[in-house]
Amino acid sequence: MKIRIGLGYDIHRLEEGRKLFLGGVEIDFPKGLRGHSDGDCLIHAIIDALLGALGKEDIGHHFPDTDARYKDVRSTELLEKVMSLMSEKNMEVLNIDAIIIAENPKLAPHVSRMKETLGPILKVEKDSLGIKAKTNEGLGALGNEEAIASWAQVLVREIK
Ligand code: MG
Repeated sequence: MKIRIGLGYDIHRLEEGRKLFLGGVEIDFPKGLRGHSDGDCLIHAIIDALLGALGKEDIGHHFPDTDARYKDVRSTELLEKVMSLMSEKNMEVLNIDAIIIAENPKLAPHVSRMKETLGPILKVEKDSLGIKAKTNEGLGALGNEEAIASWAQVLVREIK
């Protein structure tokens, strides 16, 4: 049986006047993530991990920020497209583990909603989807609330 691992990372700037989306969930906060899409860096990290596991080009290649179709697109839609690629390759997600690094807002109260949103798209149960929220201990751009970053690691396998 073919098993593949994938790793993804993403960072987006926080700016005033944008809605904040993380893990497919809208979070009440005065700032949001700048981006051509909704800026959801957790989903982008997961997408890059999945694409990496499939040996494909990265998210910027598949969904270029020069393409008007992806202007302000919800990242959950992009993730659904990548899951279609997974199906075409006859691959399924075994588990995912991810980290969001944000000084503010506090994200722990939103993690279960993120899992409820992402689990059905990724076709995994909650216990196969790890999402951990942590701060950057006040250090650097992440610690200064200038940006939010995410890491994601995935394990995928061939469907029998
Ligand atoms: Mg991104």
